[in-house]
Amino acid sequence: MADGKEEVASYLVRTMGFTRLHISNNNTVTLQGDLAFQSTKRILEYVTPRWRTNFVTTDVTSPVNLYLLWKRPFVLVVGIDAPTGTRYNRHCAKRIAHHEEPITLENFVELDDRTMYACEDPPRGAQAINDLAKELDIGVCLAADAEPQPLLSSIIRNASAAHELNLKRVLASANVSIANTFDTLADLYAHLEHIDLTNPERIRPSWDTYFMLLSELASHRANCMKRKVGCILVKDNQIIATGYNGTPKGITNCNEGGCPRCNDGTPCGVSLDHCLCIHAEENALLEAGRGRVRNAIDVVLYCNTCPCLGCAKKIVQVGVKVVVYSKGYGMDELTLKLFKEAKIVVRQHTPPTISMEIGSP
Ligand SMILES: [Zn+2]
Ligand SMILES: [Zn+2]
Ligand SMILES: [Zn+2]
Repeated sequence: MADGKEEVASYLVRTMGFTRLHISNNNTVTLQGDLAFQSTKRILEYVTPRWRTNFVTTDVTSPVNLYLLWKRPFVLVVGIDAPTGTRYNRHCAKRIAHHEEPITLENFVELDDRTMYACEDPPRGAQAINDLAKELDIGVCLAADAEPQPLLSSIIRNASAAHELNLKRVLASANVSIANTFDTLADLYAHLEHIDLTNPERIRPSWDTYFMLLSELASHRANCMKRKVGCILVKDNQIIATGYNGTPKGITNCNEGGCPRCNDGTPCGVSLDHCLCIHAEENALLEAGRGRVRNAIDVVLYCNTCPCLGCAKKIVQVGVKVVVYSKGYGMDELTLKLFKEAKIVVRQHTPPTISMEIGSP
């Protein structure tokens, strides 16, 4: 409540020409140009053949209905949230503007918690369970007098929970999250412009974003105590090797005590010659082998962190010609100077889809 989703929707309508879609059973549409549908399924049927046109709705509040839209390649789910105190103040201000009594903070929190977490009681009786199972596309059909088994009841209860209003779960599935802590609409709109909310990359990533996200994913396998780094080597937009940082094969993992230097809390870039860990870029280059990289002018190295000088030397020597990184490291200047001399093209690329769009500093 009072998080700003209505304001974001009208920003998209007014400044970007989106059409507003509502879910409404009595076909009441407040503004000209808006369209009303009976359900999320009807919305989906309408927008699918019109995927080149821009639509926005704020009426999808259950995880099951959200999933119907979320799985489509032309849908962007925007999660908008704000601190409870801010939302309460906005809610009261709106009520006062409509000549209504402000509610107490306690009542607001109670109402808000119900919207965020509440689930109705699970369905009882064979008919109700069958109806819900059919709606949720779960292959269940009970005889009219059947007693549901405990396991079945729990599956249906979970599915039912997902079917109810549960904004917390909806927010968790968002492709982009905005914390709306702004005092004025102008500030919110300036922020939406700044983050380039409708950047098509948020729906379908470019090659740079795609491989950077994969290098970020590879970094999840890192076992080095110092930082999580992932690297992807690409030729003709096809992956030829991947790597992440950690101790060599057969050696105790760094995060299990394998490297004394990393486990001693040594500062970044210091005593690297005592380190037992292999860097993500080194692992990717070793995996590819010189044969797969040599003379290949089109090999691109993606790394979620700017390579250190040690890795940079190896990248130059192997013959990689393009390096793309996302986050900075402690010796970027030295690395970039070396790459420049070696005529390696370097790009810093931070995908819009992996960063949370925080509303204020
Ligand atoms: Zn380590
Ligand atoms: Zn180490
Ligand atoms: Zn390195």
